[in-house]
Amino acid sequence: MNYDEAREIRGSDGKPTGRWHYTSANRRAGTRPIGYCLEHEGHPSREEAERCYWQWEIDQAQQREGARTVDGVADGRMTCKLCAAPSVGRYVLPGAWLELDLCAQHFNRDGLRVAWPFVPGQSRMHS
Ligand SMILES: [Zn+2]
Ligand SMILES: [Zn+2]
Repeated sequence: MNYDEAREIRGSDGKPTGRWHYTSANRRAGTRPIGYCLEHEGHPSREEAERCYWQWEIDQAQQREGARTVDGVADGRMTCKLCAAPSVGRYVLPGAWLELDLCAQHFNRDGLRVAWPFVPGQSRMHS
């Protein structure tokens, strides 16, 4: 099991540094930065690290054209996450743990940002 959240970075002396990375932790591999935090120094606050990872998820989300199908038949039950219009496609977030169906008007990165808003203070558990 992986536990993803913003964590304060500890120095080689084990003391908190006041800088934050968005990280994933599990018992076997330990704790490591993920998303854009892999590539840069820590953020000055927990919320900035969380926002950094959220931005990465938005940027990395994959666009799947076309309405969802069940055995090759369009599943007309899927509607837009933001309005009641029929879905024309969906975004799949990294790790494929969440799919967001959107209509023709909302099937773009701006729509995705509204459908998947930044919420501070959240951690996540996944396999
Ligand atoms: Zn970062
Ligand atoms: Zn819509």
